[in-house]
Amino acid sequence: MSNRKLVTLRTIKELKPIIDADNIELARIDGWQCVVKKGEFEVGDLGLYFEVDSLLPQDDRWAFLEKYKWRVKTIRLRGVVSQGLLLPLDILTESEKEGLVEFAKDTLNGSIIDLAKERIDLSDLFGVEKYEHPDKYNDSNDTRGGFPAFLHKTDQERIQNLVDEYETDFKFHPYEITEKLEGTSITIYYNSFIDEFGVCSRNVQKSRSNHPIWNIVDEMEYEERLREYGKPIALQGELIGEGIQSNVYGLDGHEFRIFDVWDIQKHEYIIPMKRFVILLDLFGDGKIVEKNHVPILAYNSIGKTDTVDDLLELAEGKSEIKNDIEREGLVFKSMGNPDISFKVINNNYLLGK
Ligand code: AMP
Ligand code: MN
Repeated sequence: MSNRKLVTLRTIKELKPIIDADNIELARIDGWQCVVKKGEFEVGDLGLYFEVDSLLPQDDRWAFLEKYKWRVKTIRLRGVVSQGLLLPLDILTESEKEGLVEFAKDTLNGSIIDLAKERIDLSDLFGVEKYEHPDKYNDSNDTRGGFPAFLHKTDQERIQNLVDEYETDFKFHPYEITEKLEGTSITIYYNSFIDEFGVCSRNVQKSRSNHPIWNIVDEMEYEERLREYGKPIALQGELIGEGIQSNVYGLDGHEFRIFDVWDIQKHEYIIPMKRFVILLDLFGDGKIVEKNHVPILAYNSIGKTDTVDDLLELAEGKSEIKNDIEREGLVFKSMGNPDISFKVINNNYLLGK
């Protein structure tokens, strides 16, 4: 369901030795670093790259993943962070190789090198799914329908996959920097064109149920407020608390923290400043807006000399929700361009999981 490209062909940009390690070395793939067997790759080679959270089919070729229940996780090896699984193409079977060639022809009318250039997602070809944390409230008996086409599913691309965009464009923009919360995505909307109020999870529309979001909808009077506001918008945010993911914040109840407002009429996200004008209109009080919004850490220009690695360092730190745990990461949203945003996950958080 996710539009994350979990499996891609990538070019190895750099190989570095690891201190005190004879059999392994560190490969750089775009903004990612990944431990590989020494000698398995040369700079410029193509490799099959499985991003973290890939759930692989059981296979002897990656038998070492069995202890992680076939999930690719962020790990530390010999003191260095390793993210993802990078495999040389020569371990592919003949039929997998043929499958790749055919897929390149079908999708791009090209060769497998074009699959790397265009960074085409190969998850289906290799039977890879995204690992999802089991969610207590995620049973589907309260599904009312598909995700409405007039909305937009929440998602953020990882900065490690945006190195070129970052270097040539993104780093010259000013940003709103918010804390990325570990919860589940919720969209609450009122579409005035069809006079419809609704609540959606990440991928579907929800009917009324004992799902905790409905208590918040009632308590905060979201339907009344949105109807009164009158314009067709959707509030998107993260629901956190008891029974959601692993409730890292240790909350007893639940909180819905808004991170975006979607303009249903224009079919686009609303820039941060205007988002707050709307939220103030809705709640009538800045303190209430703040309490119902994801924590804002800064409004900042990125130093124009900052690299992706610098941003990864910036992402490390404690949560504003609970000060003694590592935060999941940061989300950067351009102040002026609703199409530019990305996430930077805190590696310490990933390693701690
Ligand atoms: P992921 O959790 O890795 O799938 O990253 C994307 C998701 O982060 C979005 O779909 C949101 O549900 C969630 N998220 C949590 N906090 C924020 C935030 N501050 N800004 C934007 N998205 C966020
Ligand atoms: Mn998440």
